[in-house]
Amino acid sequence: MRVSIIGGGYVGLVSAACMAGLGHSVMLIEIDENKVEAINSAKSPIYEKGLAELLSAHVGRNLLATTSYENLARSDVSLICVGTPPLPDGSADLSMIESASTLIGKALANKEKYHVVAVKSTVPPGTTQNLVMPAVQKHTGKNAGKIGFVMNPEFLREGLAVHDFMKPDRIVIGSSDVRAGDVFESVYQGIDAPIIRTGLIAAEMIKYASNAFLATKISFSNEIGNVCKKMGIDVYEVMSGVGLDHRINPHFLNAGVGFGGSCFPKDVSALISLAEKMDIAPVLLRSVMDVNEKQPQKIVEILLRRVGDLKAKRIAVLGLAFKNDTDDVRESRAIPVIKELVGRGALVAAYDPKANASMSAILPEIEYCGSASHALTNADACLVLTEWPEFADLDKEFDLMRSRVIIDGRRVLSCRDAEGICW
Ligand code: NAD
Repeated sequence: MRVSIIGGGYVGLVSAACMAGLGHSVMLIEIDENKVEAINSAKSPIYEKGLAELLSAHVGRNLLATTSYENLARSDVSLICVGTPPLPDGSADLSMIESASTLIGKALANKEKYHVVAVKSTVPPGTTQNLVMPAVQKHTGKNAGKIGFVMNPEFLREGLAVHDFMKPDRIVIGSSDVRAGDVFESVYQGIDAPIIRTGLIAAEMIKYASNAFLATKISFSNEIGNVCKKMGIDVYEVMSGVGLDHRINPHFLNAGVGFGGSCFPKDVSALISLAEKMDIAPVLLRSVMDVNEKQPQKIVEILLRRVGDLKAKRIAVLGLAFKNDTDDVRESRAIPVIKELVGRGALVAAYDPKANASMSAILPEIEYCGSASHALTNADACLVLTEWPEFADLDKEFDLMRSRVIIDGRRVLSCRDAEGICW
């Protein structure tokens, strides 16, 4: 099939590379010229395991990036993968969805053959029907009936994005009509996963409900973890017993400094905002966010108890990415922690295996180190904020510190003298 993908970020670029890997002819339309140039030189603008290899195998063969919508009509299916960041009131900013839809509509204005427009971005229920469809159809006029609409939410995890795209738990295809859904299913030929067919609006809600549930599991574990900490109980021992109940399962029960990333915080906030607009009090979801906002303060409280006044103290921060195996720092819990440390006069020496550069664009005022050892040298304390596997074996490196005060926010360290945030 000929597939056009709009937006070359984490979702769009990974989808484009994987669809090229499935044998489709893929055109990636991205407004950022620097990204287009990098992709066409088979250089990935983001770090994602397996992505560089896919780009080298397919760029110049069946994968091409461009800033222009001019040739979009030559594809059979278009997937919208642009961002949907939060507005100040927590609701989703749909301006990029609207402009991409308008540009798709203009590009399809004279197309005679059937075309499917699919939304892969995470959008509030009703968006495909009430915003994307009219924006596209406004420009396609007499050909409007020759366009089918699909909502195909993406569930990939950053760090494992290529794996998750190729081996998903399920593929959700919400469609405006049967033909649109049938045509779109062919895009996934070659992937072995259950396919759930729904209407447009249910597909949109499946994505929000999934993320809200996962975020709830994390905040639940953190709340139990905070109680465990006071009582001298190891919350990881507790959750290993809880997670073996098949009705619960062991995933996303990791207590720590809380969830970050470009999805959970914004999607839970958008769902809260949606509920409030309908006069429904989202009591549970608000608590999920409250617990998450407070977790970073917990690690700072432990630090203050252990070392006292932070003025001019050197604090090593290991881990800046919102999770391991990514360079993405969006909504990383390291941001509020570092801001608090800097606000209290501490000298922060930070190290992340992949995310030093992305964090330095947000917090240029701190020191970035090339290794954990460098960050730890002469430090008065160390905070671990990302579960990078390479941190697991650190031990003698902590001897480089002025005092061995080690606080683990992710339960990644194996050394005996680290204090846990919830254990
Ligand atoms: P991103 O910000 O990394 O990428 C979006 C890209 O779209 C950017 O490169 C931007 O330049 C480009 N863009 C914006 N307007 C455009 C236009 N009109 N035409 C062409 N390109 C345009 O975002 P992301 O992390 O890839 O997320 C995209 C969507 O997928 C969001 O709705 C997000 O919630 C959802 N999602 C993300 C993940 C994830 O792990 N990142 C997982 C599942 C779903």
